[in-house]
Amino acid sequence: MSDINALIEEINRFREARDWRQFHNPKDLALSLSLEAAELLENFQWKTSEEAVASNLSGMKDELADVLIYALMLCSDLELDLETIIKAKLEKNNQKYPIDKAKGSKEKYSDLS
Ligand SMILES: [Mg+2]
Repeated sequence: MSDINALIEEINRFREARDWRQFHNPKDLALSLSLEAAELLENFQWKTSEEAVASNLSGMKDELADVLIYALMLCSDLELDLETIIKAKLEKNNQKYPIDKAKGSKEKYSDLS
């Protein structure tokens, strides 16, 4: 078993022990993931990137972990294989952003020439 599947099992044991699966429908997991991403952003509010990392790294770790936990719960409940979906999306991104056009550019794929 991969490390990531062991991690997903640990997360599932955590929520099952608390009988929280009853609340974990895909809509509310996706919503919660987005809320935790906003909490991550809150660590950057009114600061430069450098100031925020220097002063809030501990809070960033917690919020990033919350985002990832919700993402892994959503993967688990939708029976999606993390490695498969990430590799599939990287391949799509590879098509949208070919190296010869995208290297060193911050343009959106539709604006690459
Ligand atoms: Mg949080």
